[in-house]
Amino acid sequence: MKRIVVKVGSAVLTHNGEVALERMKALVTFLAELKKDNEVILVSSGAVSAGYTLLKLDRKVLANKQALAAIGQPILMQKYASKFAAFDIITSQVLVTDANLNTKDDISRINNTINTLLSNGVLPIINENDATATDELEVGDNDQLSAYIAKDINADLLILLSDIDAYYDADPRKNKNAKVLKVVNNISDDEINCSPTPNNIFATGGIVTKLKAAAYLLEFGIDMFLASGFDLDDVKSFALDAKHKGGTLFTKVR
Ligand code: GLU
Repeated sequence: MKRIVVKVGSAVLTHNGEVALERMKALVTFLAELKKDNEVILVSSGAVSAGYTLLKLDRKVLANKQALAAIGQPILMQKYASKFAAFDIITSQVLVTDANLNTKDDISRINNTINTLLSNGVLPIINENDATATDELEVGDNDQLSAYIAKDINADLLILLSDIDAYYDADPRKNKNAKVLKVVNNISDDEINCSPTPNNIFATGGIVTKLKAAAYLLEFGIDMFLASGFDLDDVKSFALDAKHKGGTLFTKVR
């Protein structure tokens, strides 16, 4: 049994200003399947975008963004809870801050909570506690947050489900000959020193934050798999059937 953290981004969970319920359903179905043979922890973004479906506050203002997260987080949780209930899976919410992830005692409490939830078959759903973060999402984004969590709870694998379906040797939006890098063993400083370029207004990440997450995990020998969250075929093949068709695996040479 492996311990797998799965992170899903806001772009995947939102469609035309609404929570993308069909995509959420597909994700939940995949996670329910994955959970049969693995310990699964979900890191879900989408609180701000879910809040925005109810109240159109200007997201560029930090206090508004935090308020939107406060509105959206329970909406997200309620939708997850009802979808997972169809598989008899109990969900739980674990909100963490940057300060928690930098405090040894807090990390050990997070571990105790998550271990207890997992040993009782409950699915932990983690997000940053955006409403109380003092700076613009202090951890920065959920790509890195999920990497810290994966390391802190001794996960074997982090799966990032994104609007980016893999890591390419060139920007696929600008270069149609760009090729997927299937396996990546190291990431250079140049690759991670570019500024983040999210494709979606609600997303904080872009490829750079994913590379930072991967670089962090490579140091600890934890694998990371980046795949599409729109079409789950690649991640299903990889995680359920052990067949690497598409997506990028970041792994240390063993
Ligand atoms: N925590 C933010 C949210 O749930 C998202 C952060 C990110 O996009 O990585 O809306």
